[in-house]
Amino acid sequence: MKILVQKFGGTSVSSEEKREKAVSKVMEAVKNGYNVVVVVSAMGRNGDPYATDTLINMAKSIYSDIPKRELDLIMNCGEIISSVLFAATLSNKGYKAKALTGGQAGIITDDNFGNAEVINVDPSRILEVLREGIIPVVAGFQGITQKGELTTLGRGGSDTTAALLGVALKAEAVEIYTDVDGIMTADPRIVSTAHVIDKISYNEVFQFAEQGAKVVHPRAVEIAMRGNIPLIIKNTMSDSGGTIITNYSDAYDSIYEVDKLVTGIANMNNRVQITIESTENVQDIFEKIGEEKISIDLINIFPDKQVFTISEADFEKLRRLFEKYGVKYSYRTNCAKVSIIGNRIRGVPGVMARVIKALSKRNIEIYQTADSHNTISCLVSQDKVEEAIRVLHDEFSL
Ligand code: ADP
Ligand code: ASP
Ligand code: MG
Repeated sequence: MKILVQKFGGTSVSSEEKREKAVSKVMEAVKNGYNVVVVVSAMGRNGDPYATDTLINMAKSIYSDIPKRELDLIMNCGEIISSVLFAATLSNKGYKAKALTGGQAGIITDDNFGNAEVINVDPSRILEVLREGIIPVVAGFQGITQKGELTTLGRGGSDTTAALLGVALKAEAVEIYTDVDGIMTADPRIVSTAHVIDKISYNEVFQFAEQGAKVVHPRAVEIAMRGNIPLIIKNTMSDSGGTIITNYSDAYDSIYEVDKLVTGIANMNNRVQITIESTENVQDIFEKIGEEKISIDLINIFPDKQVFTISEADFEKLRRLFEKYGVKYSYRTNCAKVSIIGNRIRGVPGVMARVIKALSKRNIEIYQTADSHNTISCLVSQDKVEEAIRVLHDEFSL
């Protein structure tokens, strides 16, 4: 069976008109002989009636400390509503379609509400539906525990659902439809001259996603990479070819034509830089931070202090933890991380120097840096991050 997974993000299903466009992509694939499995996100963005953030705010407006289990229940509603309407739109066009929840689609998770781990994907129900000539429309971003509790897979997790199903169904490809023409050299909302990257490796996209470019979820990239299923990022509103994500050699059969050192720029906002001003029990402190599931980044260990960053969303939790254990610390809020990404950065001397020089020339102060094989990141002030992205986009001629 030739299977294609098509996932439509929140903005692609936010109105009847947009849903019609999305449905036309499904119809086209069916005409091309594919058995299509649709995955949908909740409709629209914050403020739209059934968007995930709207549902969260609605619940929290009544009880700010709402249990994670209940929050997952209300979040599940967004994708379920969306899947029913998408299936109804397909039916209107004369196609047989059936809406399925994540659980009905066979996605079994643990009970880590809000960010559940997938334990198993059983594609048998979807295959059964496909064999009956019906298009399954799966509610993304959700799963079910073995005990029947509804869970979610982490924000942006409909991409994860699509990749999981693509691998489990041995699909020809997973297409992620969104509101931009593909993976671009930077967020087009920030850099007007950003352009689409036609082909890119899983590895680089993973770095993009990890460093904050939310165009695709890093977990989805990882799953597709392990299952060796091509991921294609496309625009629901256009017919452009999009970005094809495959392994490195496929992405660059003509690697020597790729003369760019840097593939793109990503940013992560709302970071807080923490400095621990003590050297005692450092290991214990980091262990406690881990136990609290606070994710840390840009970690620099010095003989007399430790510096790292966290998300602003975790700051309260960290403060409480440090108070409890009497940890002496200072902090800097309103920070953002800007990262350049490129598989070819590795082994090329002087790239960090170029980054520092370009930012300093524009008086953008760098609070901290970090580098890996294929990324260089700088922590800057939140109000300078957009300028920093544009400066680096120019510096590396993207
Ligand atoms: P969806 O609702 O379809 O899942 P998202 O909002 O999660 O859409 O992701 C699409 C958005 O990602 C775009 O509107 C764009 O602003 C943003 N984005 C950030 N970095 C990039 C990038 N490098 N390339 C393309 N889009 C990017
Ligand atoms: N609706 C969910 C979110 O906003 C999942 C997704 O859109 O991928 O996080
Ligand atoms: Mg998304």
